[in-house]
Amino acid sequence: PFGGASAREDAVDLLARAKEAGATVVTDASSLGSAEGAFPLLGLFNDSHMNFEEDRPDSEPSLAQMTEAAITRLKNDEEGFYLMVEGGRVDQANHAGNAHRALKDGAAFAEAVALADRMTDDADTLIIVTADHDHGLSFNGYCGRGTPITGLCMGIASGQVNHTGKPELAADGKPYTVIGYLNGAGSVLTEQADHTYFGTRAVLSQEEALDPDFHQQALIPMEAETHSGADVAAWSKGPWAHLMAGSVEQNFIFHVMNHAMKAE
Ligand SMILES: [Zn+2]
Repeated sequence: PFGGASAREDAVDLLARAKEAGATVVTDASSLGSAEGAFPLLGLFNDSHMNFEEDRPDSEPSLAQMTEAAITRLKNDEEGFYLMVEGGRVDQANHAGNAHRALKDGAAFAEAVALADRMTDDADTLIIVTADHDHGLSFNGYCGRGTPITGLCMGIASGQVNHTGKPELAADGKPYTVIGYLNGAGSVLTEQADHTYFGTRAVLSQEEALDPDFHQQALIPMEAETHSGADVAAWSKGPWAHLMAGSVEQNFIFHVMNHAMKAE
């Protein structure tokens, strides 16, 4: 899940080829901004993955900025367009067992979707928002209103809705976070000298839990957290959005998009 960039073994310069074919190549947020209406446009903003939103420098465009650059160009085509925007690092933050970065990248993805919705017309543009899989994270309930989503589950007094400011305690007498993972780097079991695994949950403070680098507690020890087998949601609006209903196989989504592209 953390594959990096590697050099080509042949001497082919793909960027030179792209330029020969008429593409403008941009490599940071300012060159993207000053490319105006250049088309076609190829943006390569990092040698490997883009940064997590938490760590993104201003020189790297946000997912919403890249989405805007794409739609600005594609919407001029009278025959319409297909655009795929992936908030891909949500996945990798989850593999790292780090809910803070996963949720922050999820919010950046939501901003890109909202921008795409504002830039297009529901009368002629189908927008589908979905995921290719789920992760093994889950959310504990019964936390008082105002509990920080990546922090400790805060208590709630009877008849109240807002939290009491004191963390809820589990049966082991220790606080717990709202979000937990089934497996991953934050496992409460650690390897012992004899290579067996043993452990108990740490007594977490709110400060530790809210640290952007915190790994939420997990049950099964794994170097990298795994995808899960749970169903994922698919939201849609625009022409033929009504086809995206009920429980469907993942490949059904292709047929909806294909139909919407071809339909008058
Ligand atoms: Zn993954």
